[in-house]
Parts: sequence; C-alpha cells; structure tokens
Amino acid sequence: MPNSSAVAELGGVRTLDVAIVGAGFSGLYMLQRVRDVLHLETQVFEAGDGVGGTWYWNRYPGARCDSESYYYSYSFSRELEQEWNWSSRYPEQPEILGYLNHVADRFDLRRSIRFETRVTSATFDEASNRWNLTTDTGERISAQFLVSAVGCLSSSNTPDFPGIDSFEGECYHTGAWPHEGVDFTGKRVGLIGTGSTGIQATPVIAAQAQHLTVFQRTPNYSIPARNEPLSAELAAEIKANYDEIRQKCRDSDFGFPYVPSERLAGDATPEEQRRVYEELWQLGGFRFFMSSFSDLLTDEAANDTAAEFVRAKIREIVKDPATAELLAPTDHPYGTKRPPIDTSYYESYNRDNVTLIDVRKAAIVEITAGGLRTEDAEYALDTIVYATGFDAMTGALLKMNIRGVDGMRLADKWADGPRSLLGLQVVGFPNLFTITGPGSPSVLVNMPVAIEQHVEWICDCIEYLGRNGLSRIEATEAAQNAWVQHVFDEADETLFPLANSWYMGANIPGKTRVFMPYVGGMGQYRDRCAEVVANGYEGFAMQN
Ligand SMILES: Cc1cc2nc3c(=O)[nH]c(=O)nc-3n(C[C@H](O)[C@H](O)[C@H](O)COP(=O)(O)OP(=O)(O)OC[C@H]3O[C@@H](n4cnc5c(N)ncnc54)[C@H](O)[C@@H]3O)c2cc1C
Repeated sequence: MPNSSAVAELGGVRTLDVAIVGAGFSGLYMLQRVRDVLHLETQVFEAGDGVGGTWYWNRYPGARCDSESYYYSYSFSRELEQEWNWSSRYPEQPEILGYLNHVADRFDLRRSIRFETRVTSATFDEASNRWNLTTDTGERISAQFLVSAVGCLSSSNTPDFPGIDSFEGECYHTGAWPHEGVDFTGKRVGLIGTGSTGIQATPVIAAQAQHLTVFQRTPNYSIPARNEPLSAELAAEIKANYDEIRQKCRDSDFGFPYVPSERLAGDATPEEQRRVYEELWQLGGFRFFMSSFSDLLTDEAANDTAAEFVRAKIREIVKDPATAELLAPTDHPYGTKRPPIDTSYYESYNRDNVTLIDVRKAAIVEITAGGLRTEDAEYALDTIVYATGFDAMTGALLKMNIRGVDGMRLADKWADGPRSLLGLQVVGFPNLFTITGPGSPSVLVNMPVAIEQHVEWICDCIEYLGRNGLSRIEATEAAQNAWVQHVFDEADETLFPLANSWYMGANIPGKTRVFMPYVGGMGQYRDRCAEVVANGYEGFAMQN
C-alpha cells in the first residue's frame, strides 16, 4: 500500500500544521500547496486505497466527465498542463483517474497521504486552538488547521427500500463500483435513477445486458455530448492558448471557457431560437444552456423555449410515443437540476431490450429476493444498479462528526441547512476550512476552477496567519449571516429553487430544503473573496 512513511506512531498523537481530509482533486492540490509551497507539516487522510476521489469511486459503465477534458484539469502547473495529453473531448473515468494518479506521482504526493484511513471525528480544542482528529485505524492527530476536501458528491445515497437486503442477485451503487468491473452479459438488469449517472450508464449497460429495465422518478433534459477524439491540431491549439482559456474559466459564471450569450430568448423570433438551439444541440455539451440565451435560468418563458426544444428532440428520437412522453420532463425548468449530457441515451429506448418504468405513477414498494415490486407490477431481476446519487454537499462533511467550540456538532448547527461565510468557514468552527463548501459556487461550476480558487485562498490565509503570529481564524456571525442572505437572494432571482433537486437537498428524505450552492457566478465570487482579503480578512475574527 503506497502509504507515507511519515505516519503517526500507534497510540501516540501525530502533530500537524494542517490535516487534510480527502485525496481527490481538492486534497491533492491542497497537499501540494501546503507541503511544497508553504512548507508546513501536513498529511492527507483518504478513505479509499488510492487517489482520485470521484474518479476513484465512480467506475460504473459509461462514467465520464461532462466538462471537456482540456479545462477539467489543474491550471497550477504549466509543465503539467503541457505534458499531459487528453485523448478525447470528454474523457472516460479511467483516463481522469490516470491523470490524477499522474499528478500524485509527478508531485510526489503519495508519501504524504494516509490511504484506507477514514477520519471518524474532529473536535476543536479551545485551549490550544487545535483540532483533534481520530481515524478508523485508531490514529490520533492534532492539527492547527483542518481542511475538508471530502467532496460535494462523495457520500452515496441508497434509498431505504423495504426488503433491500433480501435481494438474492447482485446489487451495486454507481458511486462505489467494484474495481474489477461488472459483467452484465445475459443478465436482467434493473437500473434505478435517471440523473446524470443513470443517463451515462443506460446505453452502456443496455448494450451488454439481456434486458435493462430503467426505473425513472424524474425525467431529465439531456443534451448530446458529441464526444470525439481530440485531434493533434486541436490539442496543440489548446496548449498554445491555455493562459487565455484558464482566464476565461476563472472570470466566467460557470467556470467554463465558453462565450456566454448576452441575448434574451424573448428578443429572438421562434425561428431564430430554434436555429440557435439546433446549432448548439449539434455542437453538444453544456454550451446549449451557457451560450444560447442569457435568461434561461431567470425567466420561465425563456426557459420554456429551451425546454420545449429538448422535449421535441426526445419525441423525434424515441420511436414509441408513450415512452417519449415519459422521458419528456415537464415538472421543472430546464437546467435547474444538474444538466446531464449523454451519448445515445434517448436512442437506448429504441432497443428491444430496454424498458422504461415510471415509478412516479406506481412507486417502488419493495425489493424482493428475485427483483423489485412496484405498486402495480413485479420485475424479475438478476442485478440491481442504484444510480441514486449522493447526499450532496453536506453528506461527507457531516459524517466526519465535526465538533467545534463548546462541543457544538456541525450536524446540529446545520440542522436547518448549511450556513457558512463564503462556503469557506463556519461560525463556531475556528481553523476549519471547507473546500467547495455549501455557500460557494462548487457544484454549479466546472469544479477544478472552484477547487483551485479555494485551495489558493485558504493557503494564502494560512500563510497570512503564520506571518502575523496568529493562531486562530473564525467567521463572524454578522458576516456569515450577510453572506447566507446573499446566497439566498441570488438563488431567489433564478429558477433553481423551483426544482426538487439535490442542490436543494430534495433527494434525501428529512434533509432541510435550502438551495446550497452560490449561484452568483465564479467570477463574482472570486472578486468577493479577493475583496475580503484586501480589506484585511473582513468578516473573519483572528487571534494570537
Ligand atoms: C459521476 C460524476 C461525474 C462528475 N462530472 C463532473 C464534471 O463533468 N465536471 C465537474 O466539474 N465536476 C464533475 N463532478 C464533480 C466532481 O466531484 C468534482 O469535479 C471533483 O472531482 C471533486 O473533487 P474533490 O476532491 O473536491 O472531491 P472528491 O473527488 O469527491 O474526493 C473526496 C475524497 O474524500 C474522501 N473522504 C470523504 N470523507 C472522508 C473521511 N471522513 N475520511 C477520509 N476520506 C474521506 C473520499 O473517499 C474521496 O476520495 C462529477 C461527479 C460525479 C460523481
């Protein structure tokens, strides 16, 4: 196991400047900066036995990136940027995992990562202004700063169906897929969930299984990815223009280098609207909503022009009219749930071996020994695939059992929804930083852009504290309240709150429904973070 040699003595307490939890995109970059730029004593703790986070766990068939490869990557090293070659427009999971392993090797990161080690508790000690951590391997760590790099989508969610353990076939969650892969040949497979993951997995499983039954609660608007190999010419052009591409990502709303449209849908005739949508549909990917019209996420009538275009496409592609109708979303505006992009998703329903079941009409009642029972039918299955997503944004963080000042549990503090200052810090939890925490742009943007900005902000802050002989930093109540209000106000100006999405916590029974990410845009958010620093860490209280 590629563990660091610098590990805690068993029974002893390891002392660190910075403890980092998670070895995905966030944890790896945080480690590189803290260890090799700030030269502080640090260690990453990672539950898995390898680096990669999302791309380590999500190995399901069809798993790939919806951001394009050339900007779904780190920008912090020009050498890395120039030496790595992406094979295609949208890389598959093994290629992204290969990239992150390359990063770990290139920057010699593994020696500072403790694999197969889950942080099980983190408690703040007021007397020393330090965090005390315990792990499931029995280690104890004392660290001045705790940095959560646990990911927004790393705590998988499996619905609590009655009888779930009685199933005698094989069952898998897409977010914890077996490393050796799964052979569906000759199998009757049931796939539960039609979010981004279910949409990616459907065509690939359908091509192998004897029969695939897809259980859908909410239809989704999916745009074709139009994946293709990255030509040598295009790759060279990208590498020659990386500075400009990265800057566009940083300044943009969504962390993408696309030119945003400034035109309102209502200013275009229906014919012009169709032409714009058709062009972007043919181009594929997220440009469809970022480069079409500027008011899709703020004006219901504008949104409906895009939604109706996608519905018409679904009706055109799917031959069986009843199935097409089931697949055509009408219960939420386009783009207000994480927009999927696909490779032959709708076409899969023209196959003889694929059936779509509407579990909104007849809900799943129980999992049985031999399959699944809904309110109106029974389905015999050999394999069940749960593509049921994650306890997003707060799940992994709260599972860490974090206790701040006066033993206050973060889980209690956030019982009515997460509250933070800039998604970076929480009142009552000094010296804890959350990379892509709720209240930051996080899942609404191309995430490496958000991650790099957070890592750099946090490292600058830690460096500032050290330089000024300060040992403690904590968000102030007033600043946090103002930020939370701003996050809500920005969300209320959009159509996002109209959807029962995981952005709102709506996929987890009992979870308080609040819109968790910051919708004001990456560029605006970055400026606000810089302004806070320029004003002497305005809104944060610091102590010796
Ligand atoms: C299927 C899928 C597709 C995606 N596609 C895109 C995309 O196209 N574009 C995009 O921008 N984003 C995408 N994302 C979001 C993706 O999560 C981020 O882009 C990015 O990988 C997040 O990196 P991270 O390091 O912050 O978190 P993660 O990659 O989730 O890593 C967190 C790590 O923390 C570890 N961990 C958690 N809790 C503990 C603990 N208590 N102790 C120890 N270790 C712990 C986990 O094991 C995990 O390895 C996708 C996500 C999924 C699930």
